[in-house]
Amino acid sequence: MRVAAIIPAAGLGTRMNAGLPKQFLSLGGKPVLYHTLAVFNLCPVIDEIVVVLSKADRKLAEEEIILSSPFKKILTFVNGGKERIESVFNGLKAVDPAADFVVIHDGCRPFVTCQIIENSVEAAKETGGAIAGIPLGDTLKKTEQGFIQNTIDRKGVWQAQTPQTFRFSLLREAYEKASSRQISATDDAGLVEQLGHPVKIFPGSVFNIKITVPDDLILGEMILQYQKRRGQ
Ligand code: C5P
Repeated sequence: MRVAAIIPAAGLGTRMNAGLPKQFLSLGGKPVLYHTLAVFNLCPVIDEIVVVLSKADRKLAEEEIILSSPFKKILTFVNGGKERIESVFNGLKAVDPAADFVVIHDGCRPFVTCQIIENSVEAAKETGGAIAGIPLGDTLKKTEQGFIQNTIDRKGVWQAQTPQTFRFSLLREAYEKASSRQISATDDAGLVEQLGHPVKIFPGSVFNIKITVPDDLILGEMILQYQKRRGQ
């Protein structure tokens, strides 16, 4: 069984206001994306890694990550698109046709663990598609102009994370249909759901955060220390 990973990392990170895209900000002295790639590089279930970067960041990635990294797995680099969905589709086109499963994981979620990646592959083997997530603990409010319209029933509501893992043929079909019909979704499962195919959701981790706003980096440094102490 061959498993490929696609790491979309072509976002601009405008919510960060840092001048650098979030995946290149420093976490424990290394770029966020370096940490993400390091986990995939060491995880035995992954055979190849396709990294999606914006053209403008290619040189930065080479200087900051590739030249200084001990990554041994096949690393392919492709250009990103305007939306995440386009970036992943570009990545899909570069995956080795012999792959059976594809794991998609945001470049700016550096605290994924090999265990979570393996869990996603195991679940996808049974169902065709599986994603990590967290059952929602907080109460959800629908708002308009700063006022609550109503409270949303949170029973059965989960927050989606990545990795999101699918049988390669299923994912390709979902992306090809989405591209030809201009269907959109904010994650990969959304496209597979629209095919009517069941997608399993399994517990990810509260530590598997997406580095999006500046405060996430403060939290990120703490998680890094915690993981180091636990030898992860
Ligand atoms: O924008 P968002 O936080 O959802 O981004 C999730 C991941 O998708 C990030 O790693 C980001 O770099 C990537 N992305 C991309 N191409 C885009 C937008 C986002 O590869 N056009």
